[in-house]
Amino acid sequence: MYTTKKKYIFVVFTAQLLLITTIWGCSYNKTSPDILYDQQIATPLNPQTYRSDCDTLLITCIDYRYAVANQEFINETLGLKDNYDHISIPGSIYNLVNPETQGLLFSKFELSVRLHLIKRIVIISHIDCGAYGGSASFGSEIAERETLITDLTNARRLLIEKYPTLEVNLYIESLAKEGDGLKVNFEKIP
Ligand SMILES: [Zn+2]
Repeated sequence: MYTTKKKYIFVVFTAQLLLITTIWGCSYNKTSPDILYDQQIATPLNPQTYRSDCDTLLITCIDYRYAVANQEFINETLGLKDNYDHISIPGSIYNLVNPETQGLLFSKFELSVRLHLIKRIVIISHIDCGAYGGSASFGSEIAERETLITDLTNARRLLIEKYPTLEVNLYIESLAKEGDGLKVNFEKIP
């Protein structure tokens, strides 16, 4: 389904993105000494989060356009605030359905399953994902949606084969115009 060259380019791109993000983060901190050294910053925690387990592993793409909507969806719509692990990776489960890279992803998911004893996995893929080359690479909206659904259902099959007791919920999210702005729609895939 994916050529070796494309897979290589994607893995290299992902590694470079992580490196750039790390470097940028360090640079940002160095130019913001007030935040680091002149103030104490604390975020209150829900006392229930002191426990050692949680309900769900959330897997999403890194795409900034969906970041806030993803948090609201998992916290408010699904009611899982302070009760989930979150793995954010380019393409969401794009690399899980690729046999050459799925081993690495499974090894990371394993930590959430074993250490936090999760009961379900929520996977969100999105329209116009850069890991897939964006919407333009599919030729049509129908082809894009079918590809995402195929990858999501394959990911669910792989996860349930490995963790038969887990529930796996699938969603596709997309941007839609609302007045002068945009909103994010979530579609549950059966
Ligand atoms: Zn994406």
